Formats: sequence, C-alpha cells, structure tokens
Amino acid sequence: MTVPVFRFAPSPNGPLHLGHALSALLNADMAAESGGRMLVRIEDVDVTRARPEYERAILDDLDWLGIGYETPVRRQSEHADDYAAALDRLAALGLVYRSFMSRTEIAAAIAAEEARNGRPWPRDPDGAPLYPAADRDRPVDEAQALAAAGRPSALRLDMEKAVRLAGPLSWREFGDGLGGPGETVAADAAAWGDVVLAGKFAPAAYHLAVVVDDALQGVTDVVRGRDLYFSTAVHRLLQTLLGLPAPRYHHHRLIVGADGRKLSKSRGSEGLAALRAADATAADVRRMVGLAVRH
Ligand code: GLU
Repeated sequence: MTVPVFRFAPSPNGPLHLGHALSALLNADMAAESGGRMLVRIEDVDVTRARPEYERAILDDLDWLGIGYETPVRRQSEHADDYAAALDRLAALGLVYRSFMSRTEIAAAIAAEEARNGRPWPRDPDGAPLYPAADRDRPVDEAQALAAAGRPSALRLDMEKAVRLAGPLSWREFGDGLGGPGETVAADAAAWGDVVLAGKFAPAAYHLAVVVDDALQGVTDVVRGRDLYFSTAVHRLLQTLLGLPAPRYHHHRLIVGADGRKLSKSRGSEGLAALRAADATAADVRRMVGLAVRH
C-alpha cells in the first residue's frame, strides 16, 4: 500500500487564525493516524500579497502547535517553471487565451448587459461574476501585440472548450475524517467560467499551482476547509486535462467567530499570535477548534 501524503498549504499573506489551526491539526492527525507523511507548502505564488514575515510566523505557529512536517518546505515562488510547463500543455490543447478586461471594465460590461436584458449576470460559487466572453476569440497574434504594447493581461482557461474536452468529472469526498466510505461528488467546473490561470504578478493562479504542486508532491489526501469545496471542480478539471492523479478530498467544517461569520486573516481576531501572547497552549487550541486533546 502506498504511504498517504498530506499537506497543509497556507498562503503567507496574513497571520494564521483558528480556522488554519484546525486545518493544520487535522492534516497532522490524519497523517499520524494513517502512518502517512505530513508536508507544508507555502502558497506564495502571488508575490504582491505574500510576505516573508508571515511565512516565518506561520512556521512558528506550527511549531507552537506541535505539528511536525518534512523539510524543506515547498515554496511556490520557487517553481515558476513547473507552472509554465503546465500552462504550455493547456495552451497546446487550445484552451488558454489572453484576457485584458480590468475589474472596472468587467463590472461596467456586466451592468450594461444586465440593464439590456433584465436578467442577472451569472456568478461563480464564490459570488464573483463570470468573465465575459469578449477576449476569447481574439487572434493570438493580436493578443500578443496588445500585451507587448503594455496592456495588463491575464491568461484564462476557455472553460466551455475545456469542459467539453474533459467530459464528466467528479471527486471522492471523505469529509472531516479518515474513515467512512466517502461519496462521489459531481464536479461542475463550468460554474466558475473562464478562470484565471496566470497573471502579471503570478506565474500561476491558485487553481493551477495547487493541482501542479499536489501532483508533484505526490499528495494523496487533500484536507482543507469547506470554503474550497466547490473549487475542487476546477481542480479536477485541470488534473484531468493535465493527466494528473486525483487525490482524496476531505473538506472540513469552518470555524466561525463569535459573530457567527467565517474567520478571515484581515479580521485579526481569533489569531493564533494573540492566543499565544495570552499564554494559551496547543491543547487549548485543540479544545477551541473541537479536537480531542492528545496525551
Ligand atoms: N492556500 C490556500 C489557503 O490558504 C489553501 C489551498 C488548499 O488547501 O488547497 O486558503
């Protein structure tokens, strides 16, 4: 039997909070229970948001929580070549195009369209409007000329074509735990529209980097928050197009704040640093996120 491989994959663009602690602890617990390996991956592919001081703080927090992991950790910013190779493969399938609309232009185009036909513009599972089709059919040389002239652009996936090529997709979901039979979930990647694959400040967007890295690191079990549940559809699509294996997925409950809202890095409250400063222990954190304390 192959040894299971788990990973905690934080983005170093803010301090960790209790939701991250639950994710990291579940990964470490499941790795320990199954005799598996535990990896940490620093998802710093977006250089405009990642900060080295957050990476240091994250690794300190993991030590404080008593979470062991293999070193060296993989840092996405050091692997642009791997993402470029995956992008080339998708481009060779005719699935990638250069898009030029800014957020403001997208919003204006959508508002105009909604006013014209009186129907709401489709939105992705996170609530963001789907990218309008405007750039999809521009000839490649014209797009390259625009980019060379300095127009900001991003590379996007032609979702309709990609979904057609890949055929029906699904993933195996096992929820919070290791055991259980799991269930097969139908993956609706089309709901996300033409997702960004790479941009000016990142050689790969999250969806592309995560599938490339999970495959290169031999990850067998993805344990992460339910906020990424529907994104899994895009991951299964990219894995299929790139010929990468499908891990088992375990999407865990989210920790909510005292106000009932999902925790976020920007809110700062419930941050691990504050708990540490207040002399909380790793066992306290386990209790706070609803995990049994180990002796
Ligand atoms: N880097 C992502 C985050 O911090 C998690 C990615 C994943 O686990 O797939 O939200």
